[in-house]
Amino acid sequence: MCLFCDIIEGKIPSTKVYEDDKVFCFNDINPAAPVHVLVVPKKHFDDIRDIATADDGQEYLGAVAKAIDVIAEDKGLGSGFRVINNCGEDGGQTVMHVHFHVLGGVKLNEKIL
Ligand code: 5GP
Ligand code: ZN
Repeated sequence: MCLFCDIIEGKIPSTKVYEDDKVFCFNDINPAAPVHVLVVPKKHFDDIRDIATADDGQEYLGAVAKAIDVIAEDKGLGSGFRVINNCGEDGGQTVMHVHFHVLGGVKLNEKIL
């Protein structure tokens, strides 16, 4: 069982922001900024290393980039935003289906680098 696979399949409700044939994007249930969207490949990959090395991973990563651009436009993030991917236990990943956090709608100050 994978939480994000269940959300993609509609078994668990979510607030959809954007969808195409390769990605499903929805609001984070615990937002860290006024805009906090999760960009999730529709195919299950565990993490960024898993998607990077899969035969079809580049197609999905391209779709992720496209979705980020669409979300930035639709949410009015022209003045900037941040994309975060947590990978693995030490990276703080809690849902083991690769996803990218899109954060914005406010000036983000909590930089670690
Ligand atoms: P991670 O910690 O793996 O980088 O990010 C997982 C994210 O998924 C967290 O920001 C968390 O708030 C979000 N999340 C966990 N469960 C749910 C859920 O059931 N629905 C939605 N929309 N987000 C969730
Ligand atoms: Zn999954």
